[in-house]
Amino acid sequence: MSSSAQGMRFGTALLHAGCPGGRTTPASTTVPIYQTSAFPQESAAKLAGIFENRQPGFCYTRVGNPTVAAFEERMAAIEGGRCALACASGMAAIFNALVGICEAGDELIASGCLYGGTLELFEDLERMGIGVHRVDEMTAEALEAVATDRTRLVFAETISNPKLDVFDIPAIASWCHEKGLPLVVDNTVASPYLCRPLELGADIVVESTSKYINGGGNAISGAIVDSGHFSWDSERYPALAKWRRFGPFAFIARLRGGLWRDTGACLAPVTAFLNCVGLETLEVRMERECDNALALAEWLDGSGLVDEVGYLGLPGAPGHELAERQFGGRFGALLTFRAGSKERAFHFVDSVRYALRASNIGDVKTLVLHPASTIFAEVGAEERELAGVFDDTIRVSVGIEDIRDLIEDFQQALA
Ligand SMILES: *Cc1c(COP(=O)(O)O)cnc(C)c1O
Repeated sequence: MSSSAQGMRFGTALLHAGCPGGRTTPASTTVPIYQTSAFPQESAAKLAGIFENRQPGFCYTRVGNPTVAAFEERMAAIEGGRCALACASGMAAIFNALVGICEAGDELIASGCLYGGTLELFEDLERMGIGVHRVDEMTAEALEAVATDRTRLVFAETISNPKLDVFDIPAIASWCHEKGLPLVVDNTVASPYLCRPLELGADIVVESTSKYINGGGNAISGAIVDSGHFSWDSERYPALAKWRRFGPFAFIARLRGGLWRDTGACLAPVTAFLNCVGLETLEVRMERECDNALALAEWLDGSGLVDEVGYLGLPGAPGHELAERQFGGRFGALLTFRAGSKERAFHFVDSVRYALRASNIGDVKTLVLHPASTIFAEVGAEERELAGVFDDTIRVSVGIEDIRDLIEDFQQALA
């Protein structure tokens, strides 16, 4: 990854961009945890000033907290955005971003293959009167076919989980901008290490920072990062109208002063601290995880022990060339394979010694999962197969263990 918005290279920005150390007394090498609900002020006038946004400062942790603000600044810096909003979870970030833009009667267009929680959220959005169109492929032609004068945004994942679909972000962003629509991208699986959608033309990034950003699997959180470039037409986006005076901060201000604040979607200060520490090692973790994932995928592919290894780094993989171009020669830490039968898949999951049987991703420890019986258990067979999940599919979130141990472990578990 080349240079960041603040002139630092990515690996340096992880440690020093949006650095909070200088702002607190005494200065500290990590961000202090402000474990407090409220911030008493010296006068009624000061408190009034903060409430009216006339003065900087904090009043109540649901609305703002210095530890959380430090995490937000770092997320904005490492995603190459203008400003960020930390949320209680990735799902809270997705809900706030989508409902912050669309209202009853509006429509959104989403890619076919999406995280299961997002698919379930769409059912509630439809109940709220927000129409959802899905497209099998993220192409201009497919979007054109379902777009209407009520379309308000396009939503997709940089790399879908677990099918590992990718899409051409600059091409789709320019289609969106011709139509005056924002492109909202879930960057969870790629992480800003592999891809910064905002630098490729996307307008808003949403992310489960519970995964690669935190890195240690020790807390749930999410973030919304805004490029600040999208111009919110007041007629099309009436909820944004009164926030337009904030210019590039309009969308985050609309959430911070409205929906996000009033749905209580705030992040706990301790989690912000854990994420600030965790994201410092994002680059070194991801380098190792991507190397391990490629080696494991190549080994699985040549082993004769499994079918259909899914990994973007394998030359025959759908999306390989686009991924190579868009992600600078790295392919992420998620892979899938088919064990041959559900029984063999369960046997494998039960037999691994190092990998944990767990439903999250993005931990430094390798995690294995049988998606059909877990995260896709509620999804109908047809939709499940469209998402690349068969009865014998295994998903692996590759960690930073010694690759020789991982391969030996997978070999004994598949034997
Ligand atoms: C995990 C995940 C989410 C949801 O994030 P939570 O932090 O669990 O709420 C959303 N999108 C993707 C792609 C994910 O992997």
